Amino acid sequence: MPIKRKKIVVVGGGFGGIKAALETAKLKECQVTLISDRDHFLVYPSLYSTATGWSRQQSMIQLDEVFHGSTVKIVHDTVTDIDPRQKVIIGKDDKYNYDKAIFALGVVTNYFGIKGLDTYSYSIKSAPEIDRFKNHLHQALAHEKHIDKNYVVIGGGPTGVELSAALATYVAQIADKHGIDHKKLQIDLIEAAPRVLPRMSEKASQLVYDKLLSLNVSVMTNKNVESENKNSVLVSGVDMPSHTVVWTSGVSNHPFFQDNSDVFTLAENKRVMVDEHLMAYEDVFVIGDNANTDYSGLAQTAIADGKFVAKVIHSTLHNKRIPAYRPSRPIVVIPVGHNWAIAEYKNLRVKGYPAHILRMLADFICYLDYFSFVHALTLFMTKSHREEDCTTCHDK
Ligand SMILES: Cc1cc2nc3c(=O)[nH]c(=O)nc-3n(C[C@H](O)[C@H](O)[C@H](O)COP(=O)(O)OP(=O)(O)OC[C@H]3O[C@@H](n4cnc5c(N)ncnc54)[C@H](O)[C@@H]3O)c2cc1C
Repeated sequence: MPIKRKKIVVVGGGFGGIKAALETAKLKECQVTLISDRDHFLVYPSLYSTATGWSRQQSMIQLDEVFHGSTVKIVHDTVTDIDPRQKVIIGKDDKYNYDKAIFALGVVTNYFGIKGLDTYSYSIKSAPEIDRFKNHLHQALAHEKHIDKNYVVIGGGPTGVELSAALATYVAQIADKHGIDHKKLQIDLIEAAPRVLPRMSEKASQLVYDKLLSLNVSVMTNKNVESENKNSVLVSGVDMPSHTVVWTSGVSNHPFFQDNSDVFTLAENKRVMVDEHLMAYEDVFVIGDNANTDYSGLAQTAIADGKFVAKVIHSTLHNKRIPAYRPSRPIVVIPVGHNWAIAEYKNLRVKGYPAHILRMLADFICYLDYFSFVHALTLFMTKSHREEDCTTCHDK
């Protein structure tokens, strides 16, 4: 007689959800469904690179490709509710019964109510946002009478640092292509804290600050963005003319959890409280950016969480002792411009080309978490491909 397999429903096709689905699908007692509102996996750490002219393939991978050869059923839907008493997840298109549910919905952009940002600023958190940003860059530079001289990146965290450094080279290249003097262009990086990368050591911040200056990025710290309009952004009382303002600063937890606050308990930072098995409610796991754990907010943590819940489910099904979750401190590696990065782990620090190699290695290992060696290597190789998709450029 065939065994009745447990229904595992994973919601979210990002770092945590995909890993959890791949790992639980290895258990023969489980039948896994992954629900996502996107048809592709967004590899966020590579988005700054795609946004500045490098391959799209490295950072946007179809879910069909990720789950090729696995038994995971992929469903395209947007989940809105959960009824944990009936063990049912409710999406816009359908309802899904589960024995175990795993949520990894990621975060959403938060403009903190700053006037004009939602209308005028650019963001690089999705494929449409990246297209809008790149089209604008090419459009602005292709027609000299509209040339934007000032490029403002808001947020001196990892994304803002990576993007402003890459942008300095990218806009200079586009300008050269159109015969525009790139020395006229200015890149500003705005940070509210006293230093860039405030979550890293002061020494690391200083090294990155120096590197950014050498790339002609001007770094403004202790500055608050107050509003933006069509032609400028107001920063600590000073109006800075710009048509290219990129917001990399604010995110907040996915609203699904607040909307279902009868089921989920939220911490002060709005992340979901979980127990030592990453469970937020009976048979409901919350992982990755959504869970209130020590190193939440990092891809490496989401991957580790996905593996962990699969272990918990395996132990439960086999009546084994369930392990307790132990958050592990990730190594932080931030690329700053071409072939240069800074890496830090506790008191250890590496900078320059060796750190760049570390980052390449980390990116490759990250692909290995999802793909076979050959497939990971193929994706990794696409990183070095320049994308020539700008018709405006070629038309000129
Ligand atoms: C620009 C950027 C750069 C980053 N760089 C780094 C880095 O260099 N190193 C690092 O460690 N971390 C980095 N991070 C953070 C890292 O990407 C996240 O920690 C990681 O993606 C979290 O994984 P997750 O599975 O929790 O969420 P995500 O990867 O965000 O996945 C969430 C998934 O849920 C889906 N979803 C959302 N709502 C619904 C819904 N209602 N119904 C169905 N599906 C839904 C989304 O479409 C998405 O597929 C970066 C983040 C950003 C934004």
